[in-house]
Amino acid sequence: MRRGDQDRTRGPGRPLTACRRLFDALFLDRDGTLIAERGYLSDPSGVRLSPGAAAGLKRFTDAGTLLFVVTNQSGIARGRLTWDDVNAVNAEVERRLRVRGVPLAGFLVCPHYPGGTVAAYTRRCRCRKPGTALHRRAIRAFGLRPERCAVVGDKWDDVGAAVALGAAAVHLLTGHGRSHRRAVEEKAPGTILARTLAEGLARLEALPQSVKAGHPSP
Ligand SMILES: [Mg+2]
Ligand SMILES: [Zn+2]
Repeated sequence: MRRGDQDRTRGPGRPLTACRRLFDALFLDRDGTLIAERGYLSDPSGVRLSPGAAAGLKRFTDAGTLLFVVTNQSGIARGRLTWDDVNAVNAEVERRLRVRGVPLAGFLVCPHYPGGTVAAYTRRCRCRKPGTALHRRAIRAFGLRPERCAVVGDKWDDVGAAVALGAAAVHLLTGHGRSHRRAVEEKAPGTILARTLAEGLARLEALPQSVKAGHPSP
């Protein structure tokens, strides 16, 4: 990776601000994207980080990009998961990345589903992806520029949110990615497709490099 090579040649004493920020924030899907898809995962010991996730994401956080995990957890509305289950898994994801030097800025969780069985969460909402209420909450709270953000996920729901936000989109073929590929290609032809999270992150890193070619840095 070009960027990694640059980082190594900066030397240990140089501040991280010398490193060009690629994006204000990444909005990462959790299941099938950041961790292996397990279907209503309630046990933190079932967390399997996607191969290369920590190394790939560290290049972004080292450059000042914030990482948010945006996740539809309809299992709460369906009575398959409790908030405690979801929070425990999220805490494990956070811990596993933190020990590898990758801080997460926050988890944004939609517990709703129109066809649920738990009355409190059985409804249409604006936060279930492709809704963007959760992304917009972070954008407001952290002063992010949506056009300087990117969404990474394995479903049309993730890409659809990116389109609504005006953010870059990466569709992964992990998790449910293959069954959502056609919808993504039909509805959002500009979406970056990648076989793995690591590849998707590398493709995102390459984007600003090509833009930069036409706009030399001062
Ligand atoms: Mg997913
Ligand atoms: Zn919701």
